[in-house]
Amino acid sequence: MYQEPLPKEYIDLPQEEIDRRIEAAKAKLGKRLVILGHHYQRDEIIRHADFRGDSYKLAKNAAAVPDAEFIVFCGVHFMAESADILTPASQKVILPNLAAGCSMADMANLFQVRNAWKQIHEIIGDSQRVVPVTYINSAANLKAFVGEHGGTVCTSTNAPTAVAWALEQGDKVFFFPDQHLGRNTGVKLGYDPNSQMILWDPFKPLGGNTPETIQSAKFILWKGHCSVHKRFTVEQIEKARREHPAVKVLVHPECELEVIKAADLNGSTEFILTKITESEPGSIWAVGTEINLVSRLAKEQPDKTIFCLDPEICPCSTMYRIHPSFLLWTLENLVEGTVVNHIVVPDKIRDDALVALQRMLTVCA
Ligand code: SF4
Repeated sequence: MYQEPLPKEYIDLPQEEIDRRIEAAKAKLGKRLVILGHHYQRDEIIRHADFRGDSYKLAKNAAAVPDAEFIVFCGVHFMAESADILTPASQKVILPNLAAGCSMADMANLFQVRNAWKQIHEIIGDSQRVVPVTYINSAANLKAFVGEHGGTVCTSTNAPTAVAWALEQGDKVFFFPDQHLGRNTGVKLGYDPNSQMILWDPFKPLGGNTPETIQSAKFILWKGHCSVHKRFTVEQIEKARREHPAVKVLVHPECELEVIKAADLNGSTEFILTKITESEPGSIWAVGTEINLVSRLAKEQPDKTIFCLDPEICPCSTMYRIHPSFLLWTLENLVEGTVVNHIVVPDKIRDDALVALQRMLTVCA
């Protein structure tokens, strides 16, 4: 989405002044304000957050503070939408920079997904039931599509439960937008990635498949990926093992299947945090996820060796658009009584998306 440039008085402010003014605005707004900080945000944002978490945990945090009138979500667009869906209309969810999207979520849009759904059903007719499952990293209108078509949302934590449920309801799963989470989940459940899964490329007729493979596939995986987690490789894991024979390699399930296989463990951001936090002093961790989270873990737990698998810095560039100046601009506007960057999911989309989110809560409880 388009973001108006910041007013010039917010450009090039020294960090100490930004911190001081953010804290002053927070003090003025008091309990009317809650700031949520995704784990992938930089330290200069996280230090002002009332809650830290992954996207789903933060949306639940927002719903757990009904007195807060303003929820400032320091994350990306789909996360602010989820928070708006899960909170009452009296709470206003705000994204400090509208340009903070998610490149993975942007790889599937409603038009493309509807088109794929139609093509799949032209091939299979009424002979099989397809259950759509969308990763929480998707636009609200895709969650609504899933709600309308009897499917569910999933997170990287509960994907195996959600997908197993979907396969009990129907014959096939249509999983979007992250092919890797879909494939890794299918493999975890015992399915063969070569003979039982196909990739759907939205830019090709029939997604680049034949009618026969569409008929026989158990998993139809959308051709989407996370640009951060795609950077991790088996070679990096081999290097980490050569240099640190006692290392444990822990990666996110948005990584490619080969990387998942070569790692010791894989799991969501919250899983990564818990696993490392609970490990013995002196343990060594090579982590395949976003650099801000890994660096913070290393700083906060100096009794362990914690490093990112990718030697090049690999921040999530869209998360990085939440610059502290945008947070300051948002808060000072609220103090003045102006709500900027209010994220509102239209009612019809909200209702159907809520069905899909509630289904996830029931299925994965
Ligand atoms: S890390 Fe990947 S999936 Fe997460 S917000 Fe950034 S681009 Fe999207």
